[in-house]
Amino acid sequence: MFDLKKITRANIQGLKPYSSARDEFSGSDGTFLDANENPFGELNRYPDPYQQELKQVIKEDRNVDLKNIFVGNGSDEIIDLLFRIFCNPASEKALTFSPAYGMYDVTANINDVELIKINLNDEFDIDYSSVEPFISNSDLKLILICSPNNPTGNCPDFDVVERILKTFNGVVLIDEAYVDFTKEKSFVELIDMYPNLVVSQTMSKAWGLASARVGFAYADSTIIDLLNKVKPPYNVSGLNQKAAIEAINRKDIYQKNKNRILEEKEKLYNSLSELEIVIKIYPSEANFFLVETQNANQVYNELVNQKIIVRNRNNIVRNCVRITVGTGDENELLIQALKSI
Ligand SMILES: *Cc1c(COP(=O)(O)O)cnc(C)c1O
Repeated sequence: MFDLKKITRANIQGLKPYSSARDEFSGSDGTFLDANENPFGELNRYPDPYQQELKQVIKEDRNVDLKNIFVGNGSDEIIDLLFRIFCNPASEKALTFSPAYGMYDVTANINDVELIKINLNDEFDIDYSSVEPFISNSDLKLILICSPNNPTGNCPDFDVVERILKTFNGVVLIDEAYVDFTKEKSFVELIDMYPNLVVSQTMSKAWGLASARVGFAYADSTIIDLLNKVKPPYNVSGLNQKAAIEAINRKDIYQKNKNRILEEKEKLYNSLSELEIVIKIYPSEANFFLVETQNANQVYNELVNQKIIVRNRNNIVRNCVRITVGTGDENELLIQALKSI
């Protein structure tokens, strides 16, 4: 049985969170002399600590109750908060699958938490049998699963992930940074079923707001309460909340740009597959391809010389580079450059 109390760090359970001036009085009408703000200017007031207007629009868009939504300073903040809430430094553990998003490793290191890494199989899928020996380890508090996965581009088998959710008594983060690009099912629909499930999404990719640093976590309200307790009081700036609200209110622009990316993705796939230097293009549910080339280090360096930057993943997946789908012109420049190598 999953028992949130049992897996939450004792210091976090007992934490009395900072109470900001805007927590104690949150109305918008009044004479505000409580927060030592400057009375002049346009950005002079602290932003809403709980981003209520933003939550209202994302609630409609994702069909999730307000009590199940947390807004982070990018989804990277959410990953860090989960380590800080659930994993005692220097003793407890987290687990992820390899190859995966590099921030899991860095965040685990910063928090002094051992990150167990299990290799995905040859199809970049999760074999349940490879996780099973760890599931009942009482030091293991957090499992991180990326779907669609960065850098491989595929979604791990839904049923296997659900089996992990069912059998693991710690918290499972499903990082859905690229979910908007796929037709595969999101795990958000399952948050009512699994009290140990946290789903993260971001405005950095399909929404085109990487600069604004806005990410979401969807989970049972008891986990959302813990995230709110531990986050910095004003973790998402007023400017960024506003940018996010405007983007969500312009769903037409989002759709149009996303469709353009998906069209370019198909064209890019076709052009890449005709190149001699390309050995394999892994199937992708995201806005990038993991591409095996003849000599990835050389390909990477020659592209950099031509001022085209891709991600060299050679030390994670041999002879692979990760290529983001750009505009039609950008992709064409890439293809011409690859032809010249
Ligand atoms: C890009 C990416 C993120 C995004 O993080 P933000 O902090 O929201 O910009 C999260 N997870 C994965 C796997 C990513 O590739």
